[in-house]
Amino acid sequence: MHGGDPVAGGVVVKYRVETNCVSNNQLASQCDNTGSISFPIYQTATFAHPGVGESTGYDYSRQQNPTREQLERVVASLENGIDALAFSSGMAAIAVMLELFKPGAHIISSRDLYGGMIRYFDKISIKNGLTITYLDTSTPNLEDFIKKETVAIFIETPTNPMMNITDIQKTAEIAKKHNLLLIVDNTFLSPYFQNPLDLGADIVLHSGTKFLGGHNDTLAGFLIVKRKDLSEELRFLIKTIGSGLAPFDSWLVLRGVKTLAVRMEACQKNAITIANWLINHPKVTKVYYVGLKDHPGYEINKNQSRGSGSMITFQVDCAKTALHVLKSVKLIRFAESLGGVETLITYPTTQTHSDVPLEEREKNGILETTLRLSTGIEHVDDLINDLEQALEIPDKV
Ligand SMILES: *Cc1c(COP(=O)(O)O)cnc(C)c1O
Repeated sequence: MHGGDPVAGGVVVKYRVETNCVSNNQLASQCDNTGSISFPIYQTATFAHPGVGESTGYDYSRQQNPTREQLERVVASLENGIDALAFSSGMAAIAVMLELFKPGAHIISSRDLYGGMIRYFDKISIKNGLTITYLDTSTPNLEDFIKKETVAIFIETPTNPMMNITDIQKTAEIAKKHNLLLIVDNTFLSPYFQNPLDLGADIVLHSGTKFLGGHNDTLAGFLIVKRKDLSEELRFLIKTIGSGLAPFDSWLVLRGVKTLAVRMEACQKNAITIANWLINHPKVTKVYYVGLKDHPGYEINKNQSRGSGSMITFQVDCAKTALHVLKSVKLIRFAESLGGVETLITYPTTQTHSDVPLEEREKNGILETTLRLSTGIEHVDDLINDLEQALEIPDKV
């Protein structure tokens, strides 16, 4: 039974209110008949068999757990997939996804990328026999880099942290023509603003730690697919590798997702106001926000998504200012991560992208003056006041 479908900002949010009976084939005792509004946490490692050769549909929580399954159903529905798999972190989802490929396979990837992804590619995938070509996937010459060994194109849009936009539909056409998988990391816009599967992607990846969880209180990761063969292969991998999300963490993300729509709208509203405020600040030299008309990806993002999100990267006049901001913010916290109700400021040079070689980092525009902001749901005046005082550097120290 599907209910709800609350409408926020003109977008129908397909958060489904399912009954507590998690599937038709389970024992009556497992169906919650209490009327509980919140889905139960099935904190169990294993499930009793009714008899030899008989199953309730659940055997062992590494393979499947009702709370995780409920979360997976909700997330699959948000991304219009046929299946979603919930992992213990975004990186765990990435690790399983890359097990789809055999030694010798070649992957084309966005150059500006989440730092942990680059670390995984460079330190683990290459050791496992994959080869990676990093490209600015927002440019049209991507096809020139496809080789006979190429198996997949991996993109982030917007990218972390420089907010580059790639045309998902055009990239999907190229992928289809060459029989490659298109994998899209949709963490930054979340399914509320963007649905890559609808635009031709084969696999959507999320760090559920970010907007889906939304409260900076748990790690999670997701892979969402629209093809049965991929779903089956990934289900084999998650149970074999054992990186599925635990019941309690599944419940936390289930709770987070209930407010996805209102949080995304509130975070975005703050981001728009702050991006426009930053542009006019004398110590800020450049603002990268997808919602600004002068952003090079503005039009493409507008065509393929329903919003610009709440991630802002900006350059300040010198490294001293950047360090001063990080040390002086009060309401805003200096911490890694993003997508929660709390506004966080990040220094990609020493945090998320510290493992990326300096030359590569600078080529992507990640400098000692680069700051990344994930706006939360605090009052925008309080956030601006905090940024204002943090950007004020006393003449005498
Ligand atoms: C955080 C993040 C990841 C990794 O997810 P974890 O949950 O931290 O393991 C991957 N991609 C992007 C874009 C991220 O922001």
